[in-house]
Amino acid sequence: MTAQLIDGKASAAALIARIATDAALLLETKQVRPGLAVVIVGDDPASQVYVANKSRTAERCGFHSVQHTLGPDTSEVQLLALVAKLNADPAIHGILVQLPLPKQIAANAVIRAIDPAKDVDGFHDINAGRIASGAAHEAFVPCTPAGAMILIREVLGEALAGKNAVVVGRSNIVGKPMASLLLAADCTVTIAHSRTADLPAVCRGADILVAAVGRPELIRGDWVKPGAVVVDVGINRLPAAPGEAKGRLVGDVAFDEVAAHAAAITPVPGGVGPMTIALLMLNTLTSACRHAGVAI
Ligand code: NAD
Repeated sequence: MTAQLIDGKASAAALIARIATDAALLLETKQVRPGLAVVIVGDDPASQVYVANKSRTAERCGFHSVQHTLGPDTSEVQLLALVAKLNADPAIHGILVQLPLPKQIAANAVIRAIDPAKDVDGFHDINAGRIASGAAHEAFVPCTPAGAMILIREVLGEALAGKNAVVVGRSNIVGKPMASLLLAADCTVTIAHSRTADLPAVCRGADILVAAVGRPELIRGDWVKPGAVVVDVGINRLPAAPGEAKGRLVGDVAFDEVAAHAAAITPVPGGVGPMTIALLMLNTLTSACRHAGVAI
């Protein structure tokens, strides 16, 4: 079997086009332009690329887009003061503080300081709690699992009830909310992690397998049930080969091996990554619509 390639880049482009149209309509009918503030602290090169990409996409959607770049020695008090200012700014509907933060700043304190109604990353305890209690429609769902769910539904449709879903990884950002969304779709969900006994056997039970680990090509071909749908969230850069400036990007799934077994698979890059950014735009639009009292 050769798997269907799930084209996250194309799905994200279609979603962004729709968001841009809806944002223009919101501006015309309610005089509200969705506003996204992206905050970056320090000079981590990967974070700088992510943040530039988010700000650029917000502009393409016709949003009011502001970026705050703070030095690596910024204190927690200074960052909390900026968050308070953005919470109070009526032109801003979404606040994103790029992680990781420098070690003198407690990420949890900053996430908890963001107004849950502007927490478009969906990391605040209130949003996490709403998702866990089955009220995702009232929450902001973290962008990566929300994007992964859209890709899964593009392949399997709405009929996910009773499917065995295995999520490898239990982070608050990806693994746990992913499991909650699959559970809300009536899947039978297993969360596997670094202490799981016999991970290959657990993975072999999956009709839907989501890998969010951060270990290059951990999931092998013979761990995958024939016909499974495989979503690879991992983004790992391999060491540069001789003569290469940068190493190759690979996921948590050994792509060629797994594509020989699976029914459908997301590539890395070009799978979940572009959907993450598109969902950030959707969450910002949703926030602006809620603010304007418009259903989305
Ligand atoms: P994390 O480090 O917070 O969590 C990793 C999880 O994997 C942990 O729960 C751990 O228990 C589990 N794990 C570690 N080693 C394991 C092993 N050998 N076997 C089974 N489980 C193991 O990472 P995260 O923030 O959830 O991110 C996971 C991956 O997804 C990373 O590669 C990250 O770069 C990527 N990511 C991609 C996007 C995107 O937009 N595509 C967004 C967020 C994260």
